[in-house]
Amino acid sequence: KTADLHGLPPGVPEHLQSEGIEELYPPQGAAVDAGILDGESVVASIPTASGKTLIAELAMLSAVQRGGKALYIVPLRALASEKKAEFERWAEYGVTVGVSTGNYDSSGEWLGSRDIIVATSEKVDSLVRNGAPWVDDLDCVVSDEVHLVNDRHRGPTLEVTLAKLRKINPGLQTVALSATVGNADEIADWLDAELVQSDWRPIDLKMGVHYGNAINFDDGSQREVEVERGQKKTAALVDDTLSEKVDGQGGSSLVFVNSRRNAESEARRLADVTKGHLTDDERAKLRELAADLRDVSDTDTSDTLAKAVAKGAAFHHAGLASEHRALVEEAFRDRLIKVVCATPTLAAGVNTPSRRVIVRDWRRYDGEFGGMKPLDVLEIHQMCGRAGRPGLDPYGEAVLLAKDSETMDELFERYIWADAEDVRSKLAAEPALRTHLLATVASGFANTRQGILDFLDQTLYATQTTESGRLETVTDTVLAYLEANEFIEREDDTIRATNIGHTVSRLYLDPMSAAEIIDGLRFAADKRVEKLRVIEGKESTSSESKQQKRQSQEEPDMSAGFTTASDLQAASNAADDEGGSEADGSEEADDEADEFETTYPTPLGLYHLVSRTPDMYELYLKSGDRETYTELCYEREPEFLGRVPSEYEDVAFEDWLAALKTAKLLEDWASETDEDRITDRYGVGPGDIRGKVDTAEWLLGAAEQLAGDLDLGNNVAVREAKKRVEYGVREELLDLAGVRGVGRKRARRLFEAGIVSRADLREADKSVVLAALRGREKTAEKILENVGRRDPSMDDVEEDSETRVATG
Ligand code: ADP
Repeated sequence: KTADLHGLPPGVPEHLQSEGIEELYPPQGAAVDAGILDGESVVASIPTASGKTLIAELAMLSAVQRGGKALYIVPLRALASEKKAEFERWAEYGVTVGVSTGNYDSSGEWLGSRDIIVATSEKVDSLVRNGAPWVDDLDCVVSDEVHLVNDRHRGPTLEVTLAKLRKINPGLQTVALSATVGNADEIADWLDAELVQSDWRPIDLKMGVHYGNAINFDDGSQREVEVERGQKKTAALVDDTLSEKVDGQGGSSLVFVNSRRNAESEARRLADVTKGHLTDDERAKLRELAADLRDVSDTDTSDTLAKAVAKGAAFHHAGLASEHRALVEEAFRDRLIKVVCATPTLAAGVNTPSRRVIVRDWRRYDGEFGGMKPLDVLEIHQMCGRAGRPGLDPYGEAVLLAKDSETMDELFERYIWADAEDVRSKLAAEPALRTHLLATVASGFANTRQGILDFLDQTLYATQTTESGRLETVTDTVLAYLEANEFIEREDDTIRATNIGHTVSRLYLDPMSAAEIIDGLRFAADKRVEKLRVIEGKESTSSESKQQKRQSQEEPDMSAGFTTASDLQAASNAADDEGGSEADGSEEADDEADEFETTYPTPLGLYHLVSRTPDMYELYLKSGDRETYTELCYEREPEFLGRVPSEYEDVAFEDWLAALKTAKLLEDWASETDEDRITDRYGVGPGDIRGKVDTAEWLLGAAEQLAGDLDLGNNVAVREAKKRVEYGVREELLDLAGVRGVGRKRARRLFEAGIVSRADLREADKSVVLAALRGREKTAEKILENVGRRDPSMDDVEEDSETRVATG
């Protein structure tokens, strides 16, 4: 019983009871028995939706009650604020919560005052690198979705971060939450933790395959769901769930598909099903929601989403803006939206249970695999686990779709009867080790080859590997790479990070990205020297030739002899003229040099540079793109910071063009091209634009720092390119767009109304500002307040800190 729990801040057990949590679920009880309230480490491997979060909360709250500090590692950035909000209900018992999202290059010292800190593994890794002092004071760390160590891209960071935290804090309580995986025991071994493993679920889950006119469930039962001619299976299944009333309410469905495009088209189709099941009241609320969604952004995606939502259906994928996602999730939980079509990202962690889950696609295109590849059992199980809302549905149903009986048999074999795969460490991959070895050396975890190998011995990889010597070989390759790029240096046995190596590690760059950026900046610096030499050269050759000319003019004159004073005067005037035009010539050269200095490197050149680093996810070239971008590549060639690969270097050239496509997107964004034009032109969602913009901003910030440290030239150009991409504006709007609440569109409108700077904005006629802001009174007031213009009537109101920051 929750009332019997010990070691928690006073009031917490009663609070849980008030939330309807009177008794622990069995796996939660097992975790308490394993000692989570007493600082013991536990790995909990239990199904989705069976109360893992409470296990984490109990561990963290008891650590705080003992005077300690806890860290909660979230699997997705989008979940950080959701979790923070959830934990903040403990504030009334004196527990403080901080979330660390922000940039990867600060030490987040302020977090030291919080009891519970929420962050992604990447963020924690960077905080460790930046020497956040509170990292040494941790008593409890929770790793949510720890099975993600299996992920090729993000797994190694989580793995190394946990190993580091445990090395810094011997005796650290480690609570790892995992979906049901094949080898939870190995994870528990690695983390020296007690294993709590269970298949228990708060609500029954029936899994089955729809084939013909019925769902065949794993318990042998069948449910007839007829598919009419011309009707899609998904439509029939969604209609069927909605028609089965429980307490007067039809059930909702979650449909998993394999691509964003499919999510959108499926939602559009299913909207025609859901619209027939709405009450008048629901229709009105949905119309309002649709308007809210349109307000978020002015894009086609926004519009498509709003249209579907007005009829009771929605889609959900990583291309959506986070405000879109939050609105959709909330309305689905409130049962206003009847069906959500999602890509598998939704299955990872977002709490959106539904009566029926339909897994429409169980294969997905995989570039590295070169074709359609079946999803992992673990992924399918996580999707299915979303079925059934405790207290609302009699049971959850998860349905896969088969067009023939062989496929049905295969699906039963492959997914329904199967256990989830084992989690395997991906640490031995070179890109992962490149980053982590540099960080390990830079932050002083190890300073010899042996020390590094000893540290790596504490990872899951070491627990799992049977291939002896593999890790050693990769370690040597990576150390050689880091040394060749001057990020580390070796003296006898000792390995040290160079200054630049420290910077790279703190900036959270993949060393390969750093090397690329440094190369690009060097290329630019060399080009500048060369260009200035040419300009100077022109200047000196032109003055030399003038000298010669003058002499050759004077000589014949002299030889002819000046006969009169006026002749002499004329000769001297001519010489003066020459002198005058010589001065003009050098001014011209100066101007040319100045212009070059201020315009080189160009934003496009810099965007391309950061877009070709491994830290920027590429945009792929679609059919027709090769021609378009090849042409653009030749047109803009002088701007690139590096040598364009020849067209015969197939892969390198293709990569160059893909980076150019990303760079062009960033340039469009920084030239105030409309968001929906960009989404159209590049085939991306608004969320992708934000993603690219954020990454570019971070990488350009890093470039600025590297250029400064290595004395590689024009930092102003880098800073400006960064600011322009940050605000999405042309140069002349930089000042205005930086004011909180202004943004790219409003800045342009203010500019057109003659308000071109913050100073103007402070002085401008209020009616002009209001007109430029399309009569939005509240917005205008907020903006004026942010720019530091105070209403006389507000004189006795204390200026808030945000205003002070905004006005600098
Ligand atoms: P998971 O993280 O395992 O997917 P959650 O922690 O989100 O699952 O829990 C799912 C739901 O179950 C939440 O709404 C939570 O409030 C509820 N819940 C958790 N534990 C209990 C309990 N002991 N009794 C009743 N409800 C609970």
